[in-house]
Amino acid sequence: MECREARLMVSHVLDGSADTAKLEDFLWHIENCSSCREELMYGLNLQQALDSLDENVDYELESSEASFHKLIQRIKTRIFLYDRYRRFKWMIYTCGFWALVFAVVMQMMHWHSMGFLFF
Ligand SMILES: [Zn+2]
Repeated sequence: MECREARLMVSHVLDGSADTAKLEDFLWHIENCSSCREELMYGLNLQQALDSLDENVDYELESSEASFHKLIQRIKTRIFLYDRYRRFKWMIYTCGFWALVFAVVMQMMHWHSMGFLFF
């Protein structure tokens, strides 16, 4: 992922609407590019400042590092769950495929025993 794409994703990452399939690349980029990491931190700080206006509470700058860490953890959790979901999906597809093969073989054996197939 390039900086331009990572920066376009920042607002989506912050509001939780980012494409999960792209999050792993995004996270890798954020961990290896200080300017995009700063961009994400600015965005997070801005979001929290705006949220604190709504909630009418004082905004603490000291907590920005901790909330950044929480955001990264949330992204990692989403990547983990997405990976599990993908594996589970393929497991279901694989089971479905072999169940279909089994059903076709059983049907052919049945037809064979009835004399409908000549082999
Ligand atoms: Zn970058």
